[in-house]
Amino acid sequence: MPRRFEIIGNGAMLDPLYFAMLAPAMLLSLWATFATKRRFAQFAEVPNARGMTGADAARAILDRAGLHHVRVEPHDGWLTDHYDPRDRTVRLSPDVYHGRSISALAVAAHETGHALQHAKRYWPLEVRTLAVPVASLGSNLGFILIAVGMLLSMAGLSLLGVILFSATVLFQLITLPVEFDASERAKKLLFDHGIIVPSEQAGVAKVLSAAAMTYVAAAITSVLTLLYFLIRLGVLGGRREE
Ligand SMILES: [Zn+2]
Repeated sequence: MPRRFEIIGNGAMLDPLYFAMLAPAMLLSLWATFATKRRFAQFAEVPNARGMTGADAARAILDRAGLHHVRVEPHDGWLTDHYDPRDRTVRLSPDVYHGRSISALAVAAHETGHALQHAKRYWPLEVRTLAVPVASLGSNLGFILIAVGMLLSMAGLSLLGVILFSATVLFQLITLPVEFDASERAKKLLFDHGIIVPSEQAGVAKVLSAAAMTYVAAAITSVLTLLYFLIRLGVLGGRREE
């Protein structure tokens, strides 16, 4: 019977199975976050040959794609760069917006890559945008339903929570092609438009591949969390006799 209470709230943290399944993924996440910051900082010290800022590069790529209506704006914070599909705006952190480094070009081009995906109706991005509200519901209400279902021994309620949580997992998985594709576009566009010179390609690739690892780690973490719930609910690995 106590088993049923283990995944309530932070109780999951005390479950050895949870640790065994999730600890490697959490370590990978920590490492990926560290590597992303280190790579960005490393190449933020390296000026790019053309002396362009991230904002210049983003504007140049967007204009050449005919996306004059997509805005490029400065945004507070460090590594807070993103593309917002709702108002078609590329927001770049100060180091990227004003920076004239390899890192600034890599990140600016990556976010611009998302704007191009949007314009070309790249389907994984469309699915991800649609999934955002369901995914945030899944990560909040999903956990609550799983916990309450287990507390009250209502397997159906827990299962409903797991189904909701699956939306979060799908969101993390669909994020992978979206992010990898944006980075591939970034590398190609920077080179094709002559924004970077050949000797700068390796640095750009290093900055972008480190960032991609954070998404891989997040996807692995969410898949393993789902598997953990399925095992604890007896859906996988046989129902536990109590
Ligand atoms: Zn991205």
